[in-house]
Amino acid sequence: MKVAFFNTKPYDRQFFGAANEKHCHEIIFFESHLSLETISLAAGFPAICIFINDYLNAEMLQILAKGGTKLIALRSAGFNHVDLTAASNLGMAIVRVPAYSPYAVAEHAVALILSLNRKIHRAYNRVREGNFSIEGLLGFDLYGATVGVVGTGKIGAIFAQIMRGFGCKLLGYDAYHNPLCVELGMKYVSMAELLSHSDIISLHCPLTPDTHHLINTEAIAKLKTGTMLINTSRGGLIDTQAAIDGLKSGSIGYLGIDVYEQEADLFFEDLSNEVIQDDIFQRLLTFPNVIVTGHQAFFTSQALANIAETTLANITEFGESGTCTNEVKIDNAIAK
Ligand code: NAD
Repeated sequence: MKVAFFNTKPYDRQFFGAANEKHCHEIIFFESHLSLETISLAAGFPAICIFINDYLNAEMLQILAKGGTKLIALRSAGFNHVDLTAASNLGMAIVRVPAYSPYAVAEHAVALILSLNRKIHRAYNRVREGNFSIEGLLGFDLYGATVGVVGTGKIGAIFAQIMRGFGCKLLGYDAYHNPLCVELGMKYVSMAELLSHSDIISLHCPLTPDTHHLINTEAIAKLKTGTMLINTSRGGLIDTQAAIDGLKSGSIGYLGIDVYEQEADLFFEDLSNEVIQDDIFQRLLTFPNVIVTGHQAFFTSQALANIAETTLANITEFGESGTCTNEVKIDNAIAK
């Protein structure tokens, strides 16, 4: 199929170029995001491919439909950036990459935990400046710590498996009790219990209207003093201002985030020569016990190869049959 790829970086062109040797789609790569300003580039393409910070609302979907687009291929697992109802009303199919490497994201969550706990970000800077004092770098043993996993699907289960390897006790919150987690000894509890009994909480559920600001002032009030909070899922799960208040009061002792609610204005671009206008984000960066990474949890070579292969296979399947196994339906979106 003829496919317009938006919001592409050199690494996308490298991995999609390699995978397309087998699929032979006619791909045009655009660097720009898909927005109202750039949407005219999609005219005449039966398929377009977008990333997580290309937001598609009803108005944009209508323009795409008028231009002949029938398929929107998401090169992501999450699909909260597309108005599914509007797409369905227009008869457009949305396909995604349900799993590409749960290991990549789970391992990044663990990297944030280890860095925050042993203060690697601070130690790195100190040693480079010839400061070998270890004052202020005190950590804690992960062995025996209680880890709360919110969302125990593919990524949450791998994360739980790694933390079990450290000798952590596992608590889980998810309507669906994953047998893999139960086998690891995870105890499923209410969200309130998970919040009040965990030393470390890691978020692995999708962003939906139900989970928006799951971690808010009320949730933070239930935490043990000094809880470590990790979010590699979606920024909207945390009310950032409430998290800042929690850091100031000490309820949150450590915050590691790979995602941020307003990340679309910041992440994936080099803004090092600009003045960042987002004061809430800038406040986060002033805390010594906060680490922010710019949505890189998925970014391993295995994950990129899998994303490219599944996305192109989705387009091939849709082109041949008009349907796709990895289509996002409104029904299963509500269930997630
Ligand atoms: P998954 O569908 O396998 O698992 C999600 C789990 O969350 C399911 O078990 C579901 O029952 C559970 N869930 C749904 N609503 C919940 C709620 N209200 N409370 C608790 N649990 C709930 O998804 P996955 O592959 O494990 O991915 C999880 C999330 O990770 C994705 O939705 C995506 O937002 C995020 N993600 C982030 C990156 C990154 O680079 N940072 C990459 C991939 C995925």
